[in-house]
Amino acid sequence: MNEVFYVTTPIYYVNSHPHIGHAYTTIATDVFTRYMKLFGAETYFLTGTDEHGQKIAESAANSGIKPQEFVDKISQEFRNLWPHLHIENDQFIRTTDSKHKACVQQILQKIFDQGEIYLKEYEGLYCIGCERFLDEAELENGNCPDHQTPPEFHKEQNYFFRMSSYQAWLSEELMKNENWVYPARYRNELIQLLKNPLQDLCISRPKSRLKWGIELPFDNNFVTYVWFDALLNYASALEWPNGEKFKKFWPNVHHTIGKDILKTHGIYWPCMLKAAGIPVFKKLVVHGHWVVEGNKMSKSIGNVVDPLAMKDQLGVDGLRYFLMRDMSFGEDSNFTKELALTRYNADLANNFGNLMNRSISMSRKNFQESVPPPGAVGNQEKELHEYFAKGVQKCREYIVTFQPHRALEHVLYLSSKVNKYIDTCKPWTLTKDDKDRDRLGTVLYTALDMTRIIVGLLDPVMPKKMYTARKNLGLEQEVIRFSSFSPGLLEPGTKLPKSNPLFPKMQASNVDQDNLKNTQSEKKSNYSAPEKKDQIAIHDFQKMELKVGRIKSCRKVPKSSKLLCSEVDLGENYLRSIISGAAEFYSPEEMTGRLVIVVTNLKPVKLMGIISEGMILFSDDNGKMALIEAPDHVDPGVKVR
Ligand SMILES: [Zn+2]
Repeated sequence: MNEVFYVTTPIYYVNSHPHIGHAYTTIATDVFTRYMKLFGAETYFLTGTDEHGQKIAESAANSGIKPQEFVDKISQEFRNLWPHLHIENDQFIRTTDSKHKACVQQILQKIFDQGEIYLKEYEGLYCIGCERFLDEAELENGNCPDHQTPPEFHKEQNYFFRMSSYQAWLSEELMKNENWVYPARYRNELIQLLKNPLQDLCISRPKSRLKWGIELPFDNNFVTYVWFDALLNYASALEWPNGEKFKKFWPNVHHTIGKDILKTHGIYWPCMLKAAGIPVFKKLVVHGHWVVEGNKMSKSIGNVVDPLAMKDQLGVDGLRYFLMRDMSFGEDSNFTKELALTRYNADLANNFGNLMNRSISMSRKNFQESVPPPGAVGNQEKELHEYFAKGVQKCREYIVTFQPHRALEHVLYLSSKVNKYIDTCKPWTLTKDDKDRDRLGTVLYTALDMTRIIVGLLDPVMPKKMYTARKNLGLEQEVIRFSSFSPGLLEPGTKLPKSNPLFPKMQASNVDQDNLKNTQSEKKSNYSAPEKKDQIAIHDFQKMELKVGRIKSCRKVPKSSKLLCSEVDLGENYLRSIISGAAEFYSPEEMTGRLVIVVTNLKPVKLMGIISEGMILFSDDNGKMALIEAPDHVDPGVKVR
C-alpha cells in the first residue's frame, strides 16, 4: 500500500471536560491511524479543540474569567489527556490559533466574493444551546430536541450562505458515491434529509450579541457562526491552499465523527467545500454513542464517566480494547464496568493472555528458556498456517472498511484456534520421552510463532501491552511489519525472558464500582439486571435446556398490566403455556408467530392462576424488554446452546 491517509476527529467543544465519548472517537481514530501505518500508508492524524461561540462566552463569564483564559485551560485538558490514552496524533489544532483564524477569513472572503454569501433580516426561534435558529418542524413539544429547552424569539440581520443552491449537487454526490459515508445507514439518513428543501445557512452572529468569534472579513459588526469556523479546521490545519501537507494529504480525508454531528459534516461541510472550490473529503466514518443506563452520555445530562478513572482500573490498553471490541462501529453501545470486565477476562486474560503464558512457560521449561527449534510440520500446523494467512487478510479488510470490532473479534478467534491447537496436541504429554522431542519443539514453536503474529495484529489497539508482549517473546528490538505476519519468521533459539502474566485475571471486586459516576439508577422493572455472580462451569450452563419455540398464540393475562400468556410450539406434541412480563412492550398480536428462545426445563410456576412451563428469553435494557429471536430457518424444538 502506497497511499496517504489523512484522518481527523471532530475538534472538541471546550464547554465540557473530556469524557468517554471524546475518548472513544479519539481512540478509534488513533487505532485506524496505527493500523493504516502498519499496512504501509503514510498517515496524518489531526485532533484539536473548538473554542468560539456563545456557550463558551457564557461559561467563561460564569467562571469570571476571560474567554481566552477559559479556552486555554480546557483545551489543555484535552491535550494533556491524549498521551495518557496512548493517542499519537500528529497535530492538535485550536480554532483560536491565528493561522486557523486567517484561513477561515480567507475562505469566507472567497465565498463572499463569489456572491454566495448575502445579508438578510431574519427572525425566528433560536436555541442558545445549539447556537442556531431552529425550524418550527424540528421542535418537540415546543422545545429544542437536543436541549429540551424552549428556543427564544430573535430578530436580527445576518449573513447567509447560499447552501440551498448546493442541494441538487449534494444529493447527486450522495446517490453516486455509495462509500462516501460509512455505515450506509447514515448515508441514507442524509439522503432522507435532502428530500426536504435545504435552507440557506446563517453564518454570522452580530457582535452586539456575541463578540467571542472570528470577525467576518467583509463586515466587522459580525463574527462567524461557530460551525462555519470549526469545520474549516480540517483544511486550515494542513495550511490550505498552498501548504505542503495540504498538497500531500488533501482530499484523502477521513472524518471520524459521532452520529450527533452527521448533519453538519454530511451537509454543511461538503457544501462549504464545494463553494470554496476545495475538493470534498473522501469519507465520513460515523460511530454511535456510548449509552449509560439508557441515556446518551453527554454533558447536559450529567452522566459523564471519567475516562481517566476507567483507565486506572482496566488499564489504558484494557480500556482501548474494550471500547474498540464492544461497540459495533456505527451503532450505540452500552457502557458498564461489568461488561468491560467480562470482556477483559474472556478475551484478554482467559484467551490471549493464557495462550501467551502457557506457550512461553512451556518453552522456557523444556527448551532452556528459549524458542524451540521446530521439527517436521504436519497437517495440524499447515491448517493453522492457512487460518492465519486468511485471518490476517481478513483483519486488514475489516480495518480498511472501518470495522474494528470485527477485526478484533477475528484476532481473538485466531487466538482461540491456537489454544485449541495446544489442547489437541497436548505438549505436556510430549515432555517425558526423547522420541517426542521433535514434535514438542514443533508444537511449542508453532504456538509461539502464531502468538507473535497475534501480538502484531493487536499492537495498534494495545500499543503498550503489545510492546511488553514482544519483550516477553524476546522480540523487543523488532520493528512490526505487516509483511512479517506470516508463519515461520520467529527465530529458534531466541531467549524468552522470565515474564509475568500480561493480562492477569480481574475479579469483579477489584473494580471499584463507586468510581463509576452515576451509573446506578433505580430499576423500575421486576426484571432488573442480575447481581454480580460467581462464574459457573460449563456443566452448570448445560443443566439449562434452551430450545427454539414458535409462539402460536398469545393473550393478555386478565387483571395484570405486565403479563402475557403465550402458547408455544417447542416441537413437542402439545403447546406449552408460558408467561412473560412483556405486556408493556409487546401486544399479543406482536408476539404471535415469533420464533423465540425458551428455557424449557424450568420448574413450572403458577402465576395469576396460570401454570407457566418455561421462560421466553428477552433482552433487558434496564427494564426495556426486547424478544430474542431465533434465525427464521430454524425449526421449533431445535436445541440452543
Ligand atoms: Zn438546542
